[in-house]
Amino acid sequence: MGSQNCIFCLKVFQTSDFLHAHYKKRHAEAYAREGGALLGSHNQLQQENISLLSNLLHANHGQDSADIEEQQEEFVMKLKEEVVDKFAGDLQHIQAEIEQMRRATFEEEDMIIKTLDNVRSKEDDRIQESRKAVKQFEQLISQLKRDIAQEVAHNRSAIV
Ligand SMILES: [Zn+2]
Repeated sequence: MGSQNCIFCLKVFQTSDFLHAHYKKRHAEAYAREGGALLGSHNQLQQENISLLSNLLHANHGQDSADIEEQQEEFVMKLKEEVVDKFAGDLQHIQAEIEQMRRATFEEEDMIIKTLDNVRSKEDDRIQESRKAVKQFEQLISQLKRDIAQEVAHNRSAIV
């Protein structure tokens, strides 16, 4: 039947002598308790099960490292995706902020222009009003001059 496995650590041994030595050396407590019975303690079926388990463990061990690699790759991919997503999200956020700022600036400029226009038109109104007032004042003065001249002329004629 060939190789035998240690029932504790599943290590493979070509002969029962080697397994015996292994039990004695590595599993001294169990060997002291059970002695040579350990060697006869598992029948053919048990031995096959142990071999199967051993193979499975080794196979799983091999798969584990592949799994770990795959998981690491997946992790890196996920991380990349997250970073890209986050960056893209940030970029969108930044773009939105810039857009908002631009719009706010436009609105502000618009408001300033409107205010300036308003001020200008008010100023225009005021200028026009003051011009009108000046004209009225001028008219008043010239009227007054005429009146005085008339009066002077009248008085002079009265004296003469
Ligand atoms: Zn062992």
